[in-house]
Amino acid sequence: MKKQVLVAGGGIGGLAAALGASRAGWDVRLYERAARFSEVGAGVQLGPNVVRRLQAWGLQQPLQAVAAFPGQLQVRSACHGGTLATLPLGATVVERYGAAYATIHRADLHGLLLEALQGHPGVQINLGCAIERHAEADGAVQVRTSAQKDVEGDALVGADGLWSRTRQQLLADGAPRHSGHLAYRALVPQAALPARLRATHVTAWLGPRLHVVHYPVRRGELQNLVVIVHGPAPQDMENWDHAANAADLEAALAGTCTGLQDVVRGVADAGSGWRLWPLNIRNPVAEAAQMAQGLVALLGDAAHPMPPYLAQGAGMAIEDAAALQRALSMHDLDVALRLRRYALNRWERNARVQARSLRNGRIFHATGPVRWGRDAALRLLGERLLDVPWLYRGDGSSASAL
Ligand SMILES: Cc1cc2nc3c(=O)[nH]c(=O)nc-3n(C[C@H](O)[C@H](O)[C@H](O)COP(=O)(O)OP(=O)(O)OC[C@H]3O[C@@H](n4cnc5c(N)ncnc54)[C@H](O)[C@@H]3O)c2cc1C
Repeated sequence: MKKQVLVAGGGIGGLAAALGASRAGWDVRLYERAARFSEVGAGVQLGPNVVRRLQAWGLQQPLQAVAAFPGQLQVRSACHGGTLATLPLGATVVERYGAAYATIHRADLHGLLLEALQGHPGVQINLGCAIERHAEADGAVQVRTSAQKDVEGDALVGADGLWSRTRQQLLADGAPRHSGHLAYRALVPQAALPARLRATHVTAWLGPRLHVVHYPVRRGELQNLVVIVHGPAPQDMENWDHAANAADLEAALAGTCTGLQDVVRGVADAGSGWRLWPLNIRNPVAEAAQMAQGLVALLGDAAHPMPPYLAQGAGMAIEDAAALQRALSMHDLDVALRLRRYALNRWERNARVQARSLRNGRIFHATGPVRWGRDAALRLLGERLLDVPWLYRGDGSSASAL
């Protein structure tokens, strides 16, 4: 009889986990707390390590149809506007890593995973239904849903995000903490911007205690902008998407160069608004047992939330799902051992990416002599500092085996 996995969460991580599990020959019951799928209006960057995974799932064509493929990453000073370093993307990345560097609207990424999943038999998606708690007994895992139903499966994957209940039950390690940073995000139709403000590259502006990243998404039709500044956490941390005040944002950017201020003002001039997201973090994963115990595994932000300073949170969730697929396919192992294998394969890479993201946050926002040193190093070493071969080459597993 086919084994059945229960998946908590229908975000990018949950859908990817469900896709991986169904491709491993498992039945899937996915539970999403929200009554409908509605990914927030924001973009994500996908490194070649992630695009390679999507290609292995046969998603190259749908990705090509909705993503943008910027030709370059540019790092500029937020103070004087000068270019500090560039990294060629486009064909160079394909040549170097065998897959492209893509930028995509979150809803488009979510949509293409969902469509791929809907083509699989044995997948049941339950919306408006949260997983409230779980228990293991007699070689099975039982969950209680918010509809007060008990459901049994052979494994449970907690892909229920930053505030994961599955994690709380498994690890009881408290809530994530505010990083001290706030992200303002906006999405603007490029046609509404003057030509000089339209994005074709990924551009990152580094300034004291702030940085700004913007890039094209949806075939270049939209521009995604993220401004990260220091600030206290809002009261209701779990409700993380707040209407942002453009005046606060302008004040935070006082002292930056005109070129950057023009980019940020372009959002309001184009009739678009900003949303505010407090950024929350945990310490990097410290051992495999933090990613799986018994018949329960964690995946994506539930397992390893990180600040977005390496642009790999969703990417690591997708890599997790590919590793989960490989582990669930090991039909001669019992299920707990398969999940243990998954955790052993993933925890160190996730920890490394989390640690590097945290470190990038300190470097990006440096002040005083550290900032001067950073800028000098970027000018001198440029591409060598921006490229991340250990990350972009992938996790060492063969995509073709998927
Ligand atoms: C400003 C910013 C920029 C970013 N940029 C990038 C980037 O460029 N590249 C990149 O790869 N990543 C990026 N990320 C990170 C990325 O967005 C996250 O890592 C990713 O979305 C995590 O996906 P997830 O599915 O694990 O969690 P989530 O997206 O949080 O999904 C969790 C889902 O679980 C549901 N849920 C919660 N509790 C329950 C429950 N009990 N039962 C059932 N369902 C439940 C929720 O409703 C939600 O749908 C960025 C993040 C931020 C904040």
